[in-house]
Amino acid sequence: MDECIFCKIAGGQIPVKKLGEDDHVVAFPDLNPQTPFHALVIPKLHVASLHDVRDPMLVGHLYGMAGQLARSNGFDVTGYRTVINTGPDAQQTVFHLHLHVLAGRRMSWPPG
Ligand code: AMP
Ligand code: ZN
Repeated sequence: MDECIFCKIAGGQIPVKKLGEDDHVVAFPDLNPQTPFHALVIPKLHVASLHDVRDPMLVGHLYGMAGQLARSNGFDVTGYRTVINTGPDAQQTVFHLHLHVLAGRRMSWPPG
């Protein structure tokens, strides 16, 4: 997708500090962090939202990377939150699937 900002990040046209990468996904810091640690994990393949996923393994790859990031940053002990916003009510703003990995402070529940 030519105009998709996360495709450009996945393809290397927009440089980011990569926190992790494998054959299927890339992880990088969120530009507007909501917690002391806030990473996004995206598939290299363009998929607009969770609703558009055809191969459920893709979601497994996102969560596998999220778990690795959490462990390597010590959040397997203190905890972390993983979020996929889908559609208008969830306030999805970037239409390339992404998994938020939030950690580093006590969070409230339910979400606003
Ligand atoms: P969502 O509301 O779930 O669609 O979240 C989109 C997220 O992408 C937001 O948290 C933004 O801060 C983040 N974001 C948008 N553009 C960039 C970028 N170029 N690099 C890193 N994060 C970004
Ligand atoms: Zn894309």
